[in-house]
Amino acid sequence: MADSVSTADLARWMHAFAELVTEHKDNLTALDAAIGDGDHGANMDRGMRAGIAAIDEAAPDTPRALFTKLGMTVVSTVGGASGPLFGTLFLRLGSALGDSTEVSPTELAAALRAGLDGVVARGKAEPGDKTMLDALAPAVTALESAAAAGTSRSEALQLALSAAEQGRDATTPMLARKGRASYLGERSVGHQDPGATSAALLLAAAVRAPL
Ligand code: ADP
Ligand code: MG
Repeated sequence: MADSVSTADLARWMHAFAELVTEHKDNLTALDAAIGDGDHGANMDRGMRAGIAAIDEAAPDTPRALFTKLGMTVVSTVGGASGPLFGTLFLRLGSALGDSTEVSPTELAAALRAGLDGVVARGKAEPGDKTMLDALAPAVTALESAAAAGTSRSEALQLALSAAEQGRDATTPMLARKGRASYLGERSVGHQDPGATSAALLLAAAVRAPL
């Protein structure tokens, strides 16, 4: 990855994420209806709509201000597990990026790693537990490798998206060990995880924005 990104670029990424969540709301709900309680689409859509409204109003001028506002709004508007988890991801992104107005590829990858660590600390899930981590973790690793190799930004984001989508697809045969889906035991096998599907949309949004 070559270029740095600004707070405005990061805000466009979050707008694109909110748009994708709205577009995929029914699918996210259907996935959650199969192995959960059928609210994941509504949860993510409500949280991101409120988050976008909050950042549009506040017009944050640093990554910290942007992601802190977004994360706090998501946490306070979403009752389900995904609210605190995605909220934590955003809050950690904000802390890690701080007041850097020119975010380098390495900083972005490191911030996403910090966000991922925050989700792990909060949810206590591990890779293979059939959660959002299964899409997010491979994407962060792909981004770190691309940043270290000096890959162009568009190619790096595409690689991260592919890793997230593969991780998402790999949740289908997994047995859920965390969250509501874990209550189903063996019956969770054969269904794609809704949170991993949302997490892949976060990377799709970076490609769409483009970040
Ligand atoms: P709820 O399960 O409370 O109804 P959602 O339906 O919005 O919340 O979100 C469900 C998603 O949250 C799951 O598909 C899974 O990816 C993710 N999830 C649940 N528990 C955890 C956890 N402990 N760690 C990471 N992700 C989790
Ligand atoms: Mg649910």
